[in-house]
Amino acid sequence: MRKLRLVAIMLVSALILVACGSGKETEKPADTKGYVGIAMPTQSAERWIADGANMVKVLEDLGYETDLQYAEDVVQNQISQIENMITKGVDVLVIASIDGSALTDVLDKANAEGIKVIAYDRLIMDSAHIDYYSTFDNYSVGVLEANYIIKKLDLDNAAGPFNIEFFGGSPDDNNALFFWDGAFDTLKPYLDEGKLVIKSGQNTFEQGATLRWDGAAAQQRMDNILSAHYSSGDDVHAILSPYDPISLGVIESLKNIGYGTAEKPLPVVTGQDAVAAGVKSIIAGEQSQTVFKDTRELAKKTAEMVQSLVEGTDVDVNDTETYNNNVKVVPSYLLVPISVDIDNYYEVLVDSGYFTEDDLK
Ligand code: BGC
Repeated sequence: MRKLRLVAIMLVSALILVACGSGKETEKPADTKGYVGIAMPTQSAERWIADGANMVKVLEDLGYETDLQYAEDVVQNQISQIENMITKGVDVLVIASIDGSALTDVLDKANAEGIKVIAYDRLIMDSAHIDYYSTFDNYSVGVLEANYIIKKLDLDNAAGPFNIEFFGGSPDDNNALFFWDGAFDTLKPYLDEGKLVIKSGQNTFEQGATLRWDGAAAQQRMDNILSAHYSSGDDVHAILSPYDPISLGVIESLKNIGYGTAEKPLPVVTGQDAVAAGVKSIIAGEQSQTVFKDTRELAKKTAEMVQSLVEGTDVDVNDTETYNNNVKVVPSYLLVPISVDIDNYYEVLVDSGYFTEDDLK
């Protein structure tokens, strides 16, 4: 009797294994609403650490299992991590890409397994296999930075001319182009009338770009610009920077040649992400502004998308025109970024619980 029961159990187990096919499901956690792979670019930037942690928290609270991986800005790592997630049998991939154009092949594989894909914050280019995109209104990030410069230099009333230099983000990140265009388009009338002058002449995105958003590379570029174009005594009045660590690198370069005193004040320097060091610099009166993008909201919105995809209900989007990835226009949800400076940082960042007072000491 006992022997028979054992045989029966073995038979049933064998049948289950056969039904599981490739065996990939063996790693898939049981008893969850779904399994979500979250591929993040790097832990070297605060925002991605917060993004990853927020995504895991929100999804787990909703009953999903997650696999969060960071690729430390190495494209091949990210591809391998995504391949691994596909093998483990995730239902949905949420990807903040390093190089937006490097994932075409791995997403073909995801598609072959019926896995849904959400591009997180950064658009994934050159692939048909992106279902949705959750992000902030990237063009308006640049507009906020440019408008801050217009206001602080009082460009509509002051005679000028004022000297400005532009910094761009990573050329393999589609967002970087949107930030640049939003800023450049907004400042163009002042450049055209000569009220703003780019003394370096470096006025294209390619010239201003900063590979992998590297603050040290930006500092080096600023050193070069200062020695080549400002050594005869002209001052820089504004820096359009799209990322706090770039702003901090540029400020370092300026301070090294004597900026930051009453006689030689630092220029207006914009930024993005409200990283703690950037906000501390604002409090110290060095960096002027940053653009806050609430990663908590992005995680919530993206988790909602995951849920709709898994449950087969309508996915909430608010933009179906802007984000063309060279293959298709990806339906998107755009959150609203907020300009932050010394006047509103406490209300926006501390009162909202994003930072404690201690974080900013
Ligand atoms: C993000 C920014 C971030 C930058 C560097 C961009 O894709 O949108 O928020 O500052 O990457 O990590």
